[in-house]
Amino acid sequence: MIEEQLRARNIKSDAVLAAMQNVKRHLFVPENLQNYAYNDSPLPIGLGQTISQPYIVAFMSEQLELVPGMKILEIGTGSGYQAAILAYLGCEVYTIEFLEELAAKAKNIFNELDFNNIKVKHGNGYLGWPEEAPFDAIIVTAAPESIPEKLIGQLKEDGKMIVPVGKVDSVQLLKLIIKKDKKIIEETLLPVRFVPMVE
Ligand code: SAH
Repeated sequence: MIEEQLRARNIKSDAVLAAMQNVKRHLFVPENLQNYAYNDSPLPIGLGQTISQPYIVAFMSEQLELVPGMKILEIGTGSGYQAAILAYLGCEVYTIEFLEELAAKAKNIFNELDFNNIKVKHGNGYLGWPEEAPFDAIIVTAAPESIPEKLIGQLKEDGKMIVPVGKVDSVQLLKLIIKKDKKIIEETLLPVRFVPMVE
């Protein structure tokens, strides 16, 4: 996975590569799919949701240029894998999941693996986490049809947000948003396919 899927596709950050090497992805997928955990693809995690392809997890993490100690908001906890990668990078992670069952499962695995720098909330990601804002970075791992305004409001000056934007069943574009001098700079990175961010 590290050599063929990540380095070969230009993931360069040693910290991100170390996180992808050390966080055991098979622990975050259903037992009957553990043999496929390191394949070059997303996998179903139940309730119609998916864990993203390893490359996308690494790419999104790298784009945020994280530094240990940063406070990060994730929307769409899902399996908890992306949050675990961010926590391994030394960040303080706040993650919101819409489906209670997935939020509960993720809490359990973070406890089992001793990730005590991740806080999970069951709720609607469109609202963000105002009590903990502002964040150094925000990572959205479900696709809204347009950039959620409330989340931009919870981003620090110079903060970065990465978010797949677009309708389900059409091409979504992964966007990097930087807040600079109270303005928003928007860059389009890659076509992607994520589950929808539900309203
Ligand atoms: N980051 C996850 C992948 C998540 S899949 C991982 O590493 O496994 C997207 C997740 O976003 C799903 O679990 C889905 O339930 C959740 N989701 C969808 N809409 C949401 C919303 N409005 N608020 C919070 N979570 C949402």
